[in-house]
Amino acid sequence: MCYAIPGKVKEIRGKQVLVDYFGEEKKAINEFYDIAVGDYICAQGGFVIKKVKEDEAREVLSAWKELFFELQDIDLRLSRMDLGEGSDKKLRLILDKALENIPLKKDELLYLLDLDSQQSCQLLYKSANFLRQKYHKNSCCIHGIIEISNHCQQQCTYCGISTHNKDLPRYRMTQEEIIETAVEAVERYGFQALVLQSGEDPGYSVDELAITIRKIKEKVPVLICISFGEVGLEGLEKLYHAGARALLMRFETSNPKIFARVHPGQKLETRLEHIHKAASLGYLIMTGALIGLPGQTNEDIINDIYLTKELGAEMYSFGPFLPHPETPLGNLKSPSEEKVLKTLALVRLIDPEVAKILVTTALETLEPTTRKKGLLSGANSLMLNVTPVKYRKLYAIYPNKAYSDELISTQIEEAISLLKSLGRAPTDLGVSKVI
Ligand code: SAM
Repeated sequence: MCYAIPGKVKEIRGKQVLVDYFGEEKKAINEFYDIAVGDYICAQGGFVIKKVKEDEAREVLSAWKELFFELQDIDLRLSRMDLGEGSDKKLRLILDKALENIPLKKDELLYLLDLDSQQSCQLLYKSANFLRQKYHKNSCCIHGIIEISNHCQQQCTYCGISTHNKDLPRYRMTQEEIIETAVEAVERYGFQALVLQSGEDPGYSVDELAITIRKIKEKVPVLICISFGEVGLEGLEKLYHAGARALLMRFETSNPKIFARVHPGQKLETRLEHIHKAASLGYLIMTGALIGLPGQTNEDIINDIYLTKELGAEMYSFGPFLPHPETPLGNLKSPSEEKVLKTLALVRLIDPEVAKILVTTALETLEPTTRKKGLLSGANSLMLNVTPVKYRKLYAIYPNKAYSDELISTQIEEAISLLKSLGRAPTDLGVSKVI
């Protein structure tokens, strides 16, 4: 649950609070605040991140109320669904099942992933969007990401910041820079959830990262998601105690043979062990896979979605592999936009009620106009780049990365304007940025 607008506490049971948002009830965990029934709070990813004064909350809510219902109406209109009488009877039967929340069999999912006519794909996307609206209403997460270092000791054969890329100038933000960037993202731009990401950089110790996180949490109310790669199980514990509450770590592929081929020296089990450990500690899990790795079949992609669900993911991060010329896989092709959109739609069909689905920057790099299509194919989450502009181009995991130059304010304006046109409520950005 993450509406950036304040909600009113209706009920408290131990650490769990029930919060009312214009009649919609959501649960959140309160770990740090002295809260009573009737108080107003803001929550992110199911965690209370701040208590809000009553007069402040009322002001925000009265400004929001009309817009909130207006947006919901637009969204409802755009997500209406009619399977019609088109020619593909098998497709209609499968989608009918999905729309009634009957789990699809693997051969049915494969049929959907194999679709190639525009008309059939559109029907799949619309069904996914219908399910997104049915279970998640019009909320859309917007997290910020700060890419704190492009140093990496791993040799992933697809990644432009791996050890393969000898010519890339490397940077590592100082603790002060990271804190300053995070505080600005929260106080100036209104972000309520931030991902801190880096390559696997031995230049930061886990203890240093923990201090950085603790200092950010002392300065601003924000949900912190870590994405530093394999920091070790003890490392995960330390970072949790420092205040991190979400982990973004893709397992990249559920196929152990492909995993071994593209990750020399790494093991799929180790990554999965990290994700399991993080879940057991109480982290929100954001995970997923790359679409289009060499040797990957459609069945692999479906297995990737199944694995993400088994891992208890709150957010699904599935994006295209984009070849980087300075890596061993530099001569390969990226998958089609359609393949990625179909995968996002399948995620929605497989995990309709829980999945927050990200439109990744990689997908937007593959096809710049695709954000809208992603949001209309089952997705309900965006990540904006709040890394200082001087570093962004150096975080070159693939070439020509989207949003390498755009000011944060421009990115926010573009995102909000698109979301409003689709009737979506941006749920992780301070409300002043919305109206
Ligand atoms: N070190 C962390 C980790 O291992 O999860 C985070 C950094 S890593 C560079 C972030 C993500 O970039 C990876 O999960 C991977 O899927 C993605 N990535 C790397 N190279 C890519 C490429 N060529 N195309 C698309 N995505 C890529």
